[in-house]
Amino acid sequence: AAEAVHDITAGMLRDWPLPMPGAHADKEVRGHVLIVAGSREMPGALLLAATAALRAGAGKLTIATAASVTAALGVALPEARVIGLEETPEGGLRARTPTDSADAADAASVMPALQQACERASAILIGPGMQDKQACAALVAALLPCCGKAPVILDAGAMCVAGGDDCMRFDTPVLLTPHAGELAGLTGEDKQHIAADPQAAARAAAQRLNAVVALKGSTTIITAPDGGTWSHTGGNTGLAISGSGDVLAGLIAGLAARGATLEQAAAWGVALHAMAGEQLSLRHGPLGYLAREISTEVPALLRALS
Ligand code: AMP
Ligand code: MG
Repeated sequence: AAEAVHDITAGMLRDWPLPMPGAHADKEVRGHVLIVAGSREMPGALLLAATAALRAGAGKLTIATAASVTAALGVALPEARVIGLEETPEGGLRARTPTDSADAADAASVMPALQQACERASAILIGPGMQDKQACAALVAALLPCCGKAPVILDAGAMCVAGGDDCMRFDTPVLLTPHAGELAGLTGEDKQHIAADPQAAARAAAQRLNAVVALKGSTTIITAPDGGTWSHTGGNTGLAISGSGDVLAGLIAGLAARGATLEQAAAWGVALHAMAGEQLSLRHGPLGYLAREISTEVPALLRALS
């Protein structure tokens, strides 16, 4: 039997409050986000996601990315600790330092600094701006065992770990954030088939993978393996822009680091992202605001919703 779908509205979010740090909380209590993302060609995806995680209220940020762009990102994100990773010839990332010798470390090994960052993180986002499918899959497979029970958000390229015929089933809390085209790439169905019944497609993927799935679009469906399902319609066409999904992934990671469940972080993240789009559209016009402007709206929206 189809279970109820909850509409995400401002009212329902007020009845589903986020964990709030107490007045005496330190930055550890506020949550530590680790983002493994970016590449030489797309360092900006990481910048967008990381900024959004902080705007969502997380207290600490570590980023791990292509060694060739760490210096630039470290300056652009003075709040972050930055770990430099080896790059594959195709521009992918390996979980080791550029100076590790090839035989000292295979694809499955994780350099100590990154391993420690995974263990210390309260939420981990992998994927925005990553290239080289094969390297992505190897990196995610190597990192997941280091993440313990911490919630992990797999976005963009990192979702490829769930594709193919091996029927990956996650045994720790994982959220995937595909748009219809990405979900089609994972399941082998065509995009039109998914668009015809997005709820059924999202539910089937969540059951098969044992993961929370947020199927993005002008309507976004969030569904958990236990059948809990939420739907959000809104935002505006201005959100259909490069970098928009990277911001959403970062918002969700920041909320999860604060202690929200992945379902709650996804529902709040999707709503905040859409509300920010509505505000920017009113201020600047419906098209032409930038992905980097979305998360600047979030702190005030969080206050208005609390
Ligand atoms: P991505 O495709 O990963 O860049 O993500 C795009 C983001 O923008 C997702 O959060 C979508 O839900 C959102 N989005 C895309 N198109 C629209 C639209 N027409 N109306 C509202 N939100 C949209
Ligand atoms: Mg995306």
